[in-house]
Amino acid sequence: MSGERQISVDRQLELAKIARIGSYARGIIYHSKFGHVCPVCAGPKKTEYKLCIACANEARQALVLGTDGVVLADSVRFGHYAYKGEQMYRVMQGYKNADDPSADEYQKDIKYIAADALAVHYPCIAKIAGSMPTAWATIPSTRSSRNYGKPHILTKLVTPFMARMGIQQLQLQTNAEKTHNHINPRVFSLATESQQPNLAHVLLIEDSWTSGATVQSAAAMLRLHGAAYITVYCMSRIIDLNWIEGNLGSKVAEGFRRLSYKDQCPWRLCRHPV
Ligand SMILES: [Zn+2]
Ligand SMILES: [Zn+2]
Repeated sequence: MSGERQISVDRQLELAKIARIGSYARGIIYHSKFGHVCPVCAGPKKTEYKLCIACANEARQALVLGTDGVVLADSVRFGHYAYKGEQMYRVMQGYKNADDPSADEYQKDIKYIAADALAVHYPCIAKIAGSMPTAWATIPSTRSSRNYGKPHILTKLVTPFMARMGIQQLQLQTNAEKTHNHINPRVFSLATESQQPNLAHVLLIEDSWTSGATVQSAAAMLRLHGAAYITVYCMSRIIDLNWIEGNLGSKVAEGFRRLSYKDQCPWRLCRHPV
């Protein structure tokens, strides 16, 4: 297959994705002119602070973990914002719920988002990380989740893409209840430890991010096992406009309200003004 043809296949996939979810998949931003976006998690923050409340807390917690502290994920990127009460939020909640009559359709949406990041734009990871992943994992449901112990649907959806990369899939296990907005590396353990996986660059794939504590707990656990570089890819960043309005003010909420879909690389460092 020629390079040109490959580009057009990728572009076709992107156009199909836009046609399917473009009306409700809001684009992610990591920076805004008036500083209302957290550069780590693309969530809302007060302009006078560097990070959002959750990321600032997690950075502080990481400092006291272990003897020299642990370093959180190096790069965190998202597919789209999922606003509470809107369609993308329903997709993220419903795709893994067997009782949801739309679950099959929602899973197709997830596949398009995954294909964009993990197939079409997969080589772009090197642009932000400086290297390509050497191992990957999804994050299992915590014990308080109704999906605890069940095969992870997200794993099923992303495995066809990741299997082509020829890197080891790590098995993470859950040992404890929810993370309760605290970083706790003991919530997870590495089941594939005995196989001495190559942890030079681990790609963690998750469906949604609210406070980031669960993902960062998994990152902290891997760090304690020697992971050198950790990239996180989350399908969605959950946004609660009511919470923003009440806690950070209407200017910050307005900044998020005005976002629309943008056809862009899911891995790039976004610098367009808002
Ligand atoms: Zn943040
Ligand atoms: Zn790209």
